[in-house]
Amino acid sequence: MVEKQITDNSDAAASSTEKPANFIEEIINGHLSSGRFGQRVHTRFPPEPNGYLHIGHAKSIALNFSLAAKYGGLCNLRFDDTNPSKEEAEYVHSIKDDIKWLGFDWEDREYYASDYFEQLFDWAVKLIKAGHAYVCDLSPEETRTYRGTLSEPGKNSPFRDRSVAENLDLFQRMRQGEFPDGTRVLKAKIDMAHPNFNMRDPVMYRILHAHHHRTGNDWCIYPMYDFTHGQSDSIEEITQSICTLEFENHRPLYDWFCDKLDIHHPQQIEFARLNLTYTVMSKRKFLTLVNEGYVNGWDDPRMPTISGLRRRGYTPESIRKFCEYIGVAKHNSVVDVTILENQIREHLNAIAPRVMTVLRPLKVVIENYPEGQVEELQAINNPEDESAGSRALPFTRELYIDQNDFMEVPVRRYFRLAPGKEVRLRYGYIIKCESVIKSDSGEIVELRCTYDPDTLGKQPTDRKVKGVIHWVSVGHAVDAEIRIYDRLFTTERPDKIAEGQDFRSNINPDSLEIIEHAKAEPSLAKVQSGERFQFERVGYFSVDSDSTVDKPVFNRIASLRDTWAKIAKKS
Ligand code: ATP
Ligand code: MG
Repeated sequence: MVEKQITDNSDAAASSTEKPANFIEEIINGHLSSGRFGQRVHTRFPPEPNGYLHIGHAKSIALNFSLAAKYGGLCNLRFDDTNPSKEEAEYVHSIKDDIKWLGFDWEDREYYASDYFEQLFDWAVKLIKAGHAYVCDLSPEETRTYRGTLSEPGKNSPFRDRSVAENLDLFQRMRQGEFPDGTRVLKAKIDMAHPNFNMRDPVMYRILHAHHHRTGNDWCIYPMYDFTHGQSDSIEEITQSICTLEFENHRPLYDWFCDKLDIHHPQQIEFARLNLTYTVMSKRKFLTLVNEGYVNGWDDPRMPTISGLRRRGYTPESIRKFCEYIGVAKHNSVVDVTILENQIREHLNAIAPRVMTVLRPLKVVIENYPEGQVEELQAINNPEDESAGSRALPFTRELYIDQNDFMEVPVRRYFRLAPGKEVRLRYGYIIKCESVIKSDSGEIVELRCTYDPDTLGKQPTDRKVKGVIHWVSVGHAVDAEIRIYDRLFTTERPDKIAEGQDFRSNINPDSLEIIEHAKAEPSLAKVQSGERFQFERVGYFSVDSDSTVDKPVFNRIASLRDTWAKIAKKS
């Protein structure tokens, strides 16, 4: 199927205030008017605790919780924990943390599919008794060949016509642990010639002598996801079971189980999963990135996991707005990651205090400024928010500016500092570069400048000075570590790869640059982990949890503008 790419169109979004009902809301409206579930709307978010949540899950979380809120209904959190070999309590904790951080609340409705194991077992027995399920001794390999292909029907298992009594006996003994892993399964007796593969006698239970993170060693048979998910929704009296498109052709099977068991029957509704450019979106691939050391853990700020985005400095508001903006669709698409980046820029532009930090310091000595003098210059904290007030910046004879803001031989239309040229210091004076001091190896180590005392807060009338650069006072600067993150992959669709390669071949080797000795203004001496700032002219940054009292560490959340778009336009 052709996937279309969704790009940013914020202006259009901003002008339409009241969004029309999306297709899921239309279905819910239909249920409310027909009274199918009375006037109830009850959704759930059903993660499998086998990894950390990612931005794709955020879409599902936002959708389920927001729909419940919109209709005055409820949304459960349910862990679909049917696979003991891949699931861990660590993941349960992280999932709960992430959902709370996103701003959603399941109140006391925290459920586990494993809590339903006994009920599911009883239902399996009920299906056996009604002749709808049988114990099958085919090996996994044989089961595959018996299933047939897309063009050919499957074959009935030789064990399909076992008597109810024999099936009941074998199923009980499977539970008692009499048989080794993989020797027998319980299957639903449906139709081996069904055009939908999922209906060709699917496996309901398998033998697995494995420890489960909640039920311990109580069980050595485990229900398959397909025999658990729909019934769990039913037990919780979910009204709309919202899931991603891959489950569309599982729906007939879930419906079949609900019908045969004669239990509450939710309506499954499928929507397109979120894909983003420049990243992959699967727990399995993230696990590879973590285990093989491409990133420093699940919460590495380059990861599109919720914990990674949080550590990077994303706000929950920006992620919720992103989810709302992209909406829901019935066809798979790939969303331009710029849309996400623009959401955080927009939010931080409104709330982040402005500060000055020089990433690559170059020392400037102002020769006509008195030694030892400290002047307090007033700087506005946030031009977008008057209530944020202002702060004092110490101005002295010795300053740092960024190496990028000086060119010994300036290119055309270079408005920053150059020999004999003038530039304005942000919130301060106009300075002029008088001479350049170099080391023996020819490296520029210091600039000697003069300042014009008449230019504080006003433009000179006799000349035009266009450039404004940021700076910090040498004697007051705070030493800081800056981590500049870039995209984790070099291509828009890292999943699209040549024969014999995999997504790892598209990893960006330069996705992290560490600047160890940046110089920050003194107001950043006592920052708290998680605080966010705009470094003027540089970008948005957050304080990393690695920060110490002696040295703050900042993560770049986003550049001020979409620099990748600029690169794309140029080339
Ligand atoms: P992954 O493929 O990353 O392992 P998953 O689908 O196996 O994810 P689950 O824990 O089963 O992960 O997912 C929980 C819920 O989140 C499901 O309802 C699933 O449909 C939804 N979900 C998972 N990935 C996405 C996505 N990319 N976009 C939207 N919803 C998603
Ligand atoms: Mg899954």
